[in-house]
This record gives sequence, C-alpha cells and structure tokens, in this order.
Amino acid sequence: MAANVSPFSAPEAYDAARVRRDFPILATQVNGHPLVYLDSAASSQRPLPVLRAVEDYETHSHANVHRGVHALSQAATSAFEGARERARRFLNARSIREIIFVRGTTEAINLVAQSYARPRFGPGDEILISALEHHANIVPWQMVCEQTGCTLKVAPINRRGELLYEEFEELLGPRTRLVAIAHVSNALGTVLPVKRIVEAAHAHGAVVLVDGAQAVPHSRVDVRALDADFYAFSGHKMYAPTGIGVLYGREELLAAMPPWQGGGEMILTVSFDRTTYNELPWKFEAGTPNISGAVGLGAAMDYLESLGVEAVAAHEARLLALATAELARIPGIELVGTAASKASVLSFTLAGVHAHDLGTILDTEGIAVRTGHHCAMPVMTFFGIPATARASFGCYNTEDDVARLVAGLGRVREVFG
Ligand code: PMP
Repeated sequence: MAANVSPFSAPEAYDAARVRRDFPILATQVNGHPLVYLDSAASSQRPLPVLRAVEDYETHSHANVHRGVHALSQAATSAFEGARERARRFLNARSIREIIFVRGTTEAINLVAQSYARPRFGPGDEILISALEHHANIVPWQMVCEQTGCTLKVAPINRRGELLYEEFEELLGPRTRLVAIAHVSNALGTVLPVKRIVEAAHAHGAVVLVDGAQAVPHSRVDVRALDADFYAFSGHKMYAPTGIGVLYGREELLAAMPPWQGGGEMILTVSFDRTTYNELPWKFEAGTPNISGAVGLGAAMDYLESLGVEAVAAHEARLLALATAELARIPGIELVGTAASKASVLSFTLAGVHAHDLGTILDTEGIAVRTGHHCAMPVMTFFGIPATARASFGCYNTEDDVARLVAGLGRVREVFG
C-alpha cells in the first residue's frame, strides 16, 4: 500500500483500460465531459460481474432466507451463506461463525460498542483510539463512555498525519480495555501499523477493533495473520453494493457477547417467559438480511481477487505517487496528509479557494472529488482547516485521470485568478 513507488520505474503490466470496461458507469458524460471518478474512498463503482450477480440473484433466486423449505428459499439461503463462506476465505477467518453480515463499517463498530464494550466496561476503564479516526470510530465509543462511565483516550498524530506510535504506546495501560484503530485513514490516506498496534494492545490485555473500511480495497487482509479481535469493513468501498458489510470477530469473543438487536433470525426458541438465542453468526443478524447485497459482496471479492489485490494496490500506489508529485508543483496547493506509508487518498487545499468551490468547478469539468471534512472533523481541527478536497483512486483510475485533475486545478486557479 506504500505510495513511495516511482511512477516511472515499474513496468505498467496492469491493464487499467481493460479494467475500466468492466465499469459501465465510467462511460458517463458529466457536464459535457467524460467522467473522471476520483471519489472511490467515499464509494467505489461496481463492475459488471457484481451488477450481474445481483441481477441474477434477484431475477432467479430471490426469497427469504433460512426459514423456507421451498426451492427458492433454499436457493436464496445457499447464495447468502455462500457469500458468507466467500467472505471467510477473503479474510482467512477460521470459521463462518466469525463472519457477521452488517450494513457496513458503521454498524459493525456500533455492534461491538454496544454488545462487547457496553456490558463490560465501567468507570476507570479506557478505550483508546487515534486522532485520525472517522466519526464512525469515534462516536460509538463516546456513546459507550456516556453509557458506562468509561473514558476515551486519543493517541496523537504528527503534521504528516502519522500516528505518534510512542505516545500511543504510552497511553496503553492496565486500564485500557479496547483499542479501536483505522487500518487506513480516509481523510489522509495514512496506513497505520496495525499489526504492531495489535501486538502492543494484546500485551496489555486489551482487545483490538480495526476499522478496515479504507484498507480492504487496497490490500490483502488476513485476520489470522493480523490477529485483530474485530475487523470491520463496508462492501461499497470495495466494488460491492451499499448496505452490506462485514464484522469479523474472534469466535470466543462473539460467543460471549449478547445479541444487540432482537427479532427474527437471531433466536432458537421464543416464549413469553424465555427466549434462547441462535448460534453464531445468526445471533447477531436479527431480521431479514440484505441478501442481494451479500451476493454482490461475494462477487466483488471474486472480482478484486481476479485482478489481484496486490496488483491493484501497486497500480493505485503509482497513481498516488504521480498525483502527489504533480499537485506539489501547482502553486498554492498544500497536501494534507504526507505520511511515509499511504494508500490511494490525496487530500489537499488550494490557497484562497474553499474546498467546496474547488469541487464545484472540478465538477463542471466532469471531475468527481470529495470536499469537506470527510467525517473526520477532529483531523480538520488538528490541521486548522475547515475542509480539504480529496482525490481517491480505485482499480479503474488511470494516468489520464491524474492529468485531467491537474488540468482541472489549472482551471480552478484561472477562475479564482
Ligand atoms: N471508517 C472509515 C475509515 C471510512 O472511510 C468510512 C466511510 N467513509 C467509515 C468508517 C464508515 O463506513 P460506512 O459509511 O460504509 O458505514
């Protein structure tokens, strides 16, 4: 995931032009220009194999899962549970009991906050996060602190947007019960040393949740090698539909956690006196799930692995290095987030131009970037800015996209003279 790959050295074996043909939406014209999509960190586009898998499921196999003896219900159940097994292999989890389908990263983190942390933590206990987290990895912990009286600690970052690792380690102590940390920062692109963090946290007896929303599209994640206790991600950032994601959890932890939502699917027996809960993973999946989303997620995992996650990551790293070098040459551009290890995200400001105006002018040129605080307001506060513009890369971006971005920024500078 490192960005320090020379854009000029490695041979361009990766065929981005071919990859682009898998994504029909990339042929869209926006404001009279061919679309340049540089917003994959917010949500990636879906390739034909994912669109077709969803359509095929909806056309031929849909019924509710688990409860039916009829053929369609069995077809739907096997498609849904097949996707779970696919996700298990994708993450190298030990068992499908460790794969909980959720709406996305946000729901996954809230599940752990409410089902793992809330019943266990109390005054004196500490939850440790970092200063570069997405709101989804801040607010659920603040809620647990309000509910239980435990304390939130925040490990600082430096001006490059890197975690100050020694400070982080100093904050780990006998009171630390849980560490919740991003694998890759969405606002800055920083890749965090999660393996080292997991080892250090475990040495202090704390469990670790890794927010992998920005990591799974750009790196191979092996939860056994990483040894994290929980790993959360969203399908829609890795070429799958919205409304589906995964919480991986270590089985012995999940087994000891109470369900967090009640309803159908998550029970074995119900009477007015007593209800018994289903086995893992269904104990955490109350109600009818997002079946077609899970099917699409499985297809997206097939797709990403068919391209080769490492090949995609190397391609994106070349684009990031190229864009970083090009933007650094533009007068007035300030890069925000210059960590030694980065993945696919380039945040920046342009002197005298609000990020929203910059984004609006780029849009008139057909270029989609994200502008704002990127759901990481504390990061903006740290850098003393209200917002950044953020270009982010996916498997389908090209050097031409970078050239169009650079030209678009030239246009912004003309407009603002
Ligand atoms: N964490 C990070 C690092 C993210 O980038 C995002 C999405 N921007 C989330 C959490 C939340 O993901 P979702 O909205 O899909 O639940």
